[in-house]
Amino acid sequence: MDLQYLDSLARRWQVLGPPRGRPLALYVCGPTVYDQAHVGHARTYLLFDTVKRFFLAQGARVGHVQNITDFEDKLTRRALKLGVSWKELARREERSFVHDMASLGVIPPGWSPRSSDYVSGIIEAIRTLEKRKIAYRKGRSVYFDASAVPASGGNFSADAMLSAHAVPEPGQSAEPEAEDPRDFVLWKPSSPPSPVWPSPWGKGMPGWHLECYVMASSFLPLPLDLHGGGLDLMFPHHYAENLISYGLRRSPFSKGFLHGGFVTMGERKMSKSLGNLITIREALDEICAPALRWYVLSKSYRDGIEYLEMDARSTDAMWHDLQRTFHGLLDGTEAEGYPVERLERSFAKIPRALALDLDIPQALSALQATAADIQAFGRGGLDAGDRARGRKVLLRMQDLLGLPLMGHAGAPA
Ligand SMILES: [Zn+2]
Repeated sequence: MDLQYLDSLARRWQVLGPPRGRPLALYVCGPTVYDQAHVGHARTYLLFDTVKRFFLAQGARVGHVQNITDFEDKLTRRALKLGVSWKELARREERSFVHDMASLGVIPPGWSPRSSDYVSGIIEAIRTLEKRKIAYRKGRSVYFDASAVPASGGNFSADAMLSAHAVPEPGQSAEPEAEDPRDFVLWKPSSPPSPVWPSPWGKGMPGWHLECYVMASSFLPLPLDLHGGGLDLMFPHHYAENLISYGLRRSPFSKGFLHGGFVTMGERKMSKSLGNLITIREALDEICAPALRWYVLSKSYRDGIEYLEMDARSTDAMWHDLQRTFHGLLDGTEAEGYPVERLERSFAKIPRALALDLDIPQALSALQATAADIQAFGRGGLDAGDRARGRKVLLRMQDLLGLPLMGHAGAPA
């Protein structure tokens, strides 16, 4: 079954099918590990977890790379404040992130490369760009020359991107030395306590955007089948990655781009720099992990969702009720209980909902409707002779949605 979705960069419908003879190439931009992950991160990674489960459930293989950005200016600033090195802080927060994702039942990526392990590849790529005159030096920095890439991305309009996204986020530094607002820094000078690497341009560190290109191409065939992350990465990060790919390979970085909408709190995007966030751990102190998954996925990936504690709590109550209902299907001694065919028929709607515009809200509604139908049937368990078949159906569904309907949800077999 194919997945139809709205490509957020190209602004057109795309169809993504399991490729023949090779795994699906999925690259999701990972976190910058400088502080605890928040509910906005949960939404992004749960969204791609669902995409992955959709293909795994069909028996397709998924080559999933998700990097760990372990150096960045804000990471250095926080490490300095805490009196630890950037590396110590990065490793600590990486462990915390991995722990949080496990708590949420996210299937770990196949590869989680750290950016700091790919600096030599990044330097190599900058040299190639320089040789092709797609990068220029300004002092001890190197910039990508967006005007030198003729198609300006090809699969989207750079000008439209710029006009739509030119307002910088608070705390995000502009690049005053660049010759053109579309240009971005590839290499910049640095000194301790920032990370420092030797390079043909002197001691320094890479800019942000090139790392994902280098890490993706180390593990996956390019162009990727699907590339994504949170909506805040669309510009400038994914725009820049795509230009880099045109500069290095004359083709897009990915055939498709998918972004998950923001989680907002009080009308603003949940973000560390804005100070309006709930960490995943704080949320999990209040509600259980499946309820958090349900709640943050209960709106279309294309829309934002406002995190309201009251709604999260009522999702938690609803989830426990629903889980009891599905648990109950395998209990009891009814000779004529809930027909397993009826369960199969309702569950068949769920992958179809996902296939059409990754409609997780619709899939969750179908699950709720099934639970309501079971409750209305009023006889609790499945037919005694149908239990084994029922268990299989329930297992399939919990693995597809990552929701432990009967217990722990694993990865689809
Ligand atoms: Zn990235």
